[in-house]
Amino acid sequence: MSVVSVVKIGLFGGSFDPIHRGHVEPVREARRLLGLERVIYLPTATPPHKPRRALAPAHARFAMVELALLGEEGLYASAHELTPDRPAYTVETLEHFRREMPEAELHLLIGGDSFADFHHWVRWPEIAAAARLVVLARPGWELEPHSLDPGVAALARTDRVILLRQPPVDVSSTRLREMLAAGLPLPEGAVPELVVRYVHKYDLYR
Ligand code: ATP
Repeated sequence: MSVVSVVKIGLFGGSFDPIHRGHVEPVREARRLLGLERVIYLPTATPPHKPRRALAPAHARFAMVELALLGEEGLYASAHELTPDRPAYTVETLEHFRREMPEAELHLLIGGDSFADFHHWVRWPEIAAAARLVVLARPGWELEPHSLDPGVAALARTDRVILLRQPPVDVSSTRLREMLAAGLPLPEGAVPELVVRYVHKYDLYR
């Protein structure tokens, strides 16, 4: 009798403005713990959750993701959400990957802060039906059940959600942009070295 194992694929969307250690280490750990064959990063040209924010150009954010992942086994970048004309909705991205990889078990990786806001995502129950949610621990977002929307709290009690307790990484893109704009040095190791060089070469956040 042959045993066919299901291929598990991770998807990880974000603005990555810029990508940092908190976007890489928890994902590396999630991949190892859950046996994900690969994790596909999806830098988003127009994030639905940040409609009014000025972002670095999408091609630059994509380039930084590629540079950060160059030496990372099993972590890849996709241009699928680089659609300039409209927001990229996660539910549609999942429908796309479902068609591309009908045999795969999809896992959507999101930070704890994003999970706390999940009930605002377009067609969120369909997202949870299409992919397992892998919630990455993030400092300040401990996700007590009473602090979650009741629908999301109920979802969190099912096997559609995996709450990871990996060592949290206290870095945010917002803070990094503020430091770069002020000309301050970045904390050691917060951003991969090639990304730091790219940011300075193109003067992205000054
Ligand atoms: P910003 O500060 O610009 O809002 P961010 O640092 O939250 O950005 P995003 O690009 O919006 O980064 O995040 C992409 C995904 O990564 C989201 O699901 C977010 O919750 C998650 N994430 C971001 N930073 C961390 C971190 N330090 N630990 C765990 N998850 C994180």
